[in-house]
Amino acid sequence: MPELPEVEVTRRSFADRIAGARIASVTLGKPLRWPLGCAPDDLVGRRVLGVRRRGKYLLLDLDEGLLLLHLGMSGSLTFAPAGVPAGTHDHFDLLTNQGLLRLHDPRRFGAVVYAASEADPVARKLLGHLGLEPLGDTFQVDAFHAGLKQRRSAIKQVLLAGDVVVGVGNIYASEALFLAGIRPTTRADRISLPRARLLHAAIRDVLGRAVEKGGSTLRDFSNAQGESGYFQLEAAVYGRAGLPCRRCETPVRLLKQGQRSTFFCPVCQRP
Ligand SMILES: [Zn+2]
Repeated sequence: MPELPEVEVTRRSFADRIAGARIASVTLGKPLRWPLGCAPDDLVGRRVLGVRRRGKYLLLDLDEGLLLLHLGMSGSLTFAPAGVPAGTHDHFDLLTNQGLLRLHDPRRFGAVVYAASEADPVARKLLGHLGLEPLGDTFQVDAFHAGLKQRRSAIKQVLLAGDVVVGVGNIYASEALFLAGIRPTTRADRISLPRARLLHAAIRDVLGRAVEKGGSTLRDFSNAQGESGYFQLEAAVYGRAGLPCRRCETPVRLLKQGQRSTFFCPVCQRP
């Protein structure tokens, strides 16, 4: 599943090239997770102003309205010169005078949704519940800590839920908690401000490095130039059950939290 770093890498790979483009046509394939919400022809003639990201959504700002794109479980975007016919798994083509933006999505959990503005109920439904943006300026320690204080669940679960801070997927949550020295089962509301500060820094560090290296190791991830994601996260704990902790050599432990695997060092990560 494309995670926040992959989505950000995708954004960076085509944002500059599509900015200013005029839409020539919109072609839909098989139904995606949600309907487009407007007639494809309504978009013809509009201009793409730029591409932003909010959580795992890409927001294509148009001169009138915006498109919200989500890659779902298996989606990938390419922005390339037009000419290659759509394949079986290509379900959204946005042809512009600067190139063709194409959503390839074999499992079709992805979506492209039109909204008149971000205040539109359609956009609010998708974006309104999202937590703080981990790579943005709004991700402040105090706000993060205040969010954690509201939650009694295990910190790992709270990170994955995405309503305090968005986009910290399973691998990134395990790694950030290791860096911060926090046991994944620790109740979120019991994390002190100093520990929240460490976790805040760790989340930015882990996600920031992933973006820099070009996204994590998803087999079917490819960015808008069609290149495979090449980032091999040098995991400290993730996927290393039974192997020595890289810091203290105690065997890394594995536990299940809400069906997801969590890896941690029982010595380096305190409850
Ligand atoms: Zn350790």
